[in-house]
Amino acid sequence: MSDCLFCKIVAKEVQADVVYETDRTLAFRDINPQAPTHVLVIPKEHHANAAALAEADDGLADDVLKAAHAVAVQEGVAEGGYRVVFNTGPGAGQTVFHVHAHVLGGRGLGWPPG
Ligand code: AMP
Ligand code: ZN
Repeated sequence: MSDCLFCKIVAKEVQADVVYETDRTLAFRDINPQAPTHVLVIPKEHHANAAALAEADDGLADDVLKAAHAVAVQEGVAEGGYRVVFNTGPGAGQTVFHVHAHVLGGRGLGWPPG
């Protein structure tokens, strides 16, 4: 999608602090971090949200979750605990409509989330 910010990051038209990459996924630091570790994990292929990713039904959702875990291990937050969040739809606070998993860790994370 030519007007999608995260597609532009995949295409390297927009710079990002990439921390992990596979053939089908990319992970980069959130520009406005909400925790010491705050990394966004995306499929390189454009899907608007988690629902669309689930419907793709080709193992891509699996790849994104595995990449999120790999990032947590790499960032050193897997043992202490981390959170994987897909804000899905405007009511849940989604602002970028290219599906992304927020990987958050490195501090105590309250529950329920706001
Ligand atoms: P959401 O509100 O769940 O759609 O999350 C979008 C996230 O993308 C927010 O946490 C933003 O801080 C983050 N974000 C927006 N633009 C960029 C960018 N250019 N590079 C990295 N993260 C970004
Ligand atoms: Zn996109």
